[in-house]
Amino acid sequence: MDAVDIREVGPRDGLQAEAPVSVDDRVRLIEALLEAGVRHIEACSFVSPKAVPSMAGAADVMARVPRAPQYRYAALVPNLKGAELALDAGVDELTVTISASPTYNQRNVKMSIEESLAQIEKICAVATSTDVPVDAIVSCAFGSPYEGAIDPADVAGLARRLVGGGAARITYADTTGMATPPLIETLVNTAGTVDGLHLHDNRGTALVNAYAALQLGVRRFDTSVGGLGGSPFAEGAAGNLATEELVYLLDDVGYSTGIDLCRLLEASAMVAGIIGHPVVSRLAEAGVR
Ligand code: MG
Repeated sequence: MDAVDIREVGPRDGLQAEAPVSVDDRVRLIEALLEAGVRHIEACSFVSPKAVPSMAGAADVMARVPRAPQYRYAALVPNLKGAELALDAGVDELTVTISASPTYNQRNVKMSIEESLAQIEKICAVATSTDVPVDAIVSCAFGSPYEGAIDPADVAGLARRLVGGGAARITYADTTGMATPPLIETLVNTAGTVDGLHLHDNRGTALVNAYAALQLGVRRFDTSVGGLGGSPFAEGAAGNLATEELVYLLDDVGYSTGIDLCRLLEASAMVAGIIGHPVVSRLAEAGVR
């Protein structure tokens, strides 16, 4: 049975969009995810707490999460300072973002794409010297709320430059949920290979896109427990693909994830309690078959 690597982004991408919750609750959520069999987690972001109050205390989170060789913790870093803090905190992977949409990049990180590329190269140099891989997440890879359609050749070209600059992996993000299976296929064919996808469900296409990507050989997905999360900088960007909805599908289609769906639903129920409102995941609502 083929294995699919699920990178759970709820503790970072998910909780970032919510009112701040305590470090205790963030660690408790990560522990519940580990108990469900999740092994790859974007745990936090080393960003200014003034800019993103919900991600304050990232080093405290990293100091308290359970450690084992099979657990992989990623942290999002916006700049070199954040990368140094994350490496000091002992993360296993850095994630950086750059947008295929020039306007989105300018609004999201206040830099041109060229400026972002230069900064990511510096982050890669520091990370590589400590053997920590950098995963570059290319946002708006299937369309932008500002420019509309984005040429897949431009997206693939940006990915090539990121790899040339030292990124170990590329994750293509459908930041505002614009992708459909033909667009997934076009990007896979244009890029040659797609290592990872970060799908959003704004238009109800996240799962069908994941299924299409599986047929095309993609074996790594970012998902968020409960479907938590969005981007504060792109209107209508709510709705990461829910981890439990993808695991439900993968279990039946015949891919192994190592994740126990019932335990995962317990983590999903826990996160609803932590954020104080129901999650958007339909599987959490309907339950398992
Ligand atoms: Mg997301």
